[in-house]
Amino acid sequence: MNEKLDTLSIVSLVKDVLDKGEEKISLHEPNFQGNEWKYIKDCLDSGWVSSVGKYVNEFEKRLVEYTGVKYAISVVNGTAALHICLKISGVSINDEVLLPALTFVATANAVKYCGGIPHFVDSEYVSLGINPKKLNRYLKTIATIKDGCCYNKLTNRRIKAVIAMHTFGHPVDLEKLMKVCQRYKLILIEDAAEALGSYYKDKHVGNWGNVSSLSFNGNKIITTGGGGAILTNDRKLATIAKHITTTAKLPHRWALIHDKVGYNYRMPNINAALGCAQIEQLDRFVQKKRSLAKKYHNKLTRAKGITIMKEPKYARSNYWLNTILIDKKHSNYRDELLNIFHQNNIYSRPAWTLINKLIPFKDCPSMDLSTSESLEKRIINIPSSACFGDDIIEK
Ligand SMILES: *Cc1c(COP(=O)(O)O)cnc(C)c1O
Repeated sequence: MNEKLDTLSIVSLVKDVLDKGEEKISLHEPNFQGNEWKYIKDCLDSGWVSSVGKYVNEFEKRLVEYTGVKYAISVVNGTAALHICLKISGVSINDEVLLPALTFVATANAVKYCGGIPHFVDSEYVSLGINPKKLNRYLKTIATIKDGCCYNKLTNRRIKAVIAMHTFGHPVDLEKLMKVCQRYKLILIEDAAEALGSYYKDKHVGNWGNVSSLSFNGNKIITTGGGGAILTNDRKLATIAKHITTTAKLPHRWALIHDKVGYNYRMPNINAALGCAQIEQLDRFVQKKRSLAKKYHNKLTRAKGITIMKEPKYARSNYWLNTILIDKKHSNYRDELLNIFHQNNIYSRPAWTLINKLIPFKDCPSMDLSTSESLEKRIINIPSSACFGDDIIEK
């Protein structure tokens, strides 16, 4: 277990790729070299900065074009998008929702907002996301189908949905997961916050779930400052999502009538303007990020004791964050490695603390999480901004 890891040479190889001297390097920086100033100036000049204006519709249209999902509803952030995805999928009080323990806390928080109970599932090494085979085996032992719904035999609660999170931009094995969902009558939701620009087989992520969510936070592949979107191929769900994220107001020339408890989750026009400028550059960002991933691969294949995460064979990933996976026998070196990165002005970070260990979720049900436990100890994300990649044309 305690074999020596040459942490200094790993950091030095990463430094070679980034080639930035002593300058401080962050994990993921936004890039504004397109029409950002122009579109935002247009908002300011026209006065349309808030809840009405042409950029919201335009941004939604471009999301539809880019992802090939039929409907997109832009909202204030990715967490709000997830909340609405769960809500319109019918998740309510005491429903269990299956989700990976290895994810950002928002995935689990959104379940709680609906009164649901997160039920933690293990990940696999190939995608870092849900392991469909292991989930299937688990459900075989704990789940039963009654009146077309799935129930947890141990808690007697309904299991309503599964949230697939595409970790660091690498798509989950969606077809395998969909089979499990069909077998157990579970609704599939994709948390694609990290995966705009990623494809599972020949289709963009977000096309497999009943509904899916995106995030445009400052650290994501494109940003609107803060923002998110709900994607769905179902017209009815799209209509409901638009309605309840915009205060559930009935259309009328002057009357203010609301027919539901709605949410003020609408994306402001000024944020959507930023989004329009950013999405115009998305293909270039993905190109550069894939080129950066290739540079890391080429450089770090020589490093002993670690591997660098590659996209699954079935996928084309956006490589939102590049990931070093420390070999099992060196897993006690993670913090030393993080320390040396930081001493060298290179921001790097471990994976999230597994959600089942956080105070608000420590009593939630979970399956065996041995792979997630192992990944938590061994993952390090390294700087992944698009600016470190080249504008190469891939063959
Ligand atoms: C960023 C992120 C979110 C939430 O996005 P916000 O826009 O910050 O609310 C949700 N899930 C995952 C996995 C994320 O990485």
